[in-house]
Amino acid sequence: MDATELMDAVGSQRDKLVEDFCSLLRVKAVGPESGGEGEHDRARHIVALASRLGLTDIEVLESSDPNVPSGKRPNIIIRVKGRTAKRLWVVSHMDTVPEGDLSAWTTPPYEPTVKDGRIYGRGSEDNGQELMASLCGLATLVRSGLVPELDIGLVMVADEEHGNVHGIDFLMSKGLFKKGDLVVVPDHGSLDGSELEVVEKGIAWIDVEVTGKQTHASTPHKGVNALEVAAKFMLAAVSKLRAKYAIRDDLFDPPYSTFEPTRCESNGPNVNTVPGRQRFAFDFRVLPDHSLDEVMADLRAVADETARAADAQITMSFLQRADAAPRTPLDSDVVRRLSEAISLTRDVVAKPTGIGGGTCAAPFRRAGIDAVVWASVASVAHDVNEYCIIDNLVGDTKVYALLFAGDGVRRA
Ligand SMILES: [Zn+2]
Repeated sequence: MDATELMDAVGSQRDKLVEDFCSLLRVKAVGPESGGEGEHDRARHIVALASRLGLTDIEVLESSDPNVPSGKRPNIIIRVKGRTAKRLWVVSHMDTVPEGDLSAWTTPPYEPTVKDGRIYGRGSEDNGQELMASLCGLATLVRSGLVPELDIGLVMVADEEHGNVHGIDFLMSKGLFKKGDLVVVPDHGSLDGSELEVVEKGIAWIDVEVTGKQTHASTPHKGVNALEVAAKFMLAAVSKLRAKYAIRDDLFDPPYSTFEPTRCESNGPNVNTVPGRQRFAFDFRVLPDHSLDEVMADLRAVADETARAADAQITMSFLQRADAAPRTPLDSDVVRRLSEAISLTRDVVAKPTGIGGGTCAAPFRRAGIDAVVWASVASVAHDVNEYCIIDNLVGDTKVYALLFAGDGVRRA
């Protein structure tokens, strides 16, 4: 069988793929933190669907969670043996965020609606499309009688939208993934599927509290104006950090580290008081070439200098800290294989990129596993009226079928 025949085998199932996908989206899988019952019912549905599609090696690993009625958070692992011992995983997630503002939905969020080449419904993009595409891609390969080049594992995890404790972290602790494995996390991407995310910036959200001395605004000499000290600190800090951490990396947009003052809290209701306390926050996104420890040491030095000069105090704490994971090398096998599969199915040149936010590739990269984040999506995850584009659902199913086949299909 050649690549075109395999792609045709996927294309001929378009209607069935849409039908199966809609039936999956009808089964809610909202986590308990958002008032849902977890992934239990959806997992059962997927296991039944996978066996109906001809996949036989299906395992469910459950993490205990007293916060859901079933007491368990299921993770599905579907395997197909390859001709070599090297392993390739596709790690999608079953859970979804809740619907949000129901009155803003134009179709019912849990009754998927096919309209204008799209499927509307909660979880249709995030992460249903890629879960379904990887499942159907693998099933098509097997039904076509092809043996994959690598050992293939589809992993459909729980708890991605709220911390990964019962999903990826749980499976990591069970030793499921090993150094040298290849991983695709299909949970972020571009509309045409050309972007392969291989590196992330480190993230620091910092809460800052400046304490001065409150007084009447007509006698400012009797107090210490916390707002003014906060403003001086804010500007001194970002100008120092932007100048010092100025390395560029064109994989990212923007191609440099960012240091932004963001939230500013109220310091009181009235105008005629010099505020004695001011809180605000920084959001830093730092290229992986710099350590957050080094950035924070510089920030602390500016804070100490500003506080001393003004006779104020500046305290800081992390609202969030995520140090950047190591990069997946641009010449990694997973980047090469996925890029080839993409270019065979569509008229785009796959290009590696970096992003400024955290993804679920980070825990794999920290464990020494090359991981790529990829999907062909309109980026409407978590929105009301979330949708997936059917052409992307089918197109990505073709990509998976070719990726899994590896050298098992003729490329000519
Ligand atoms: Zn997601």
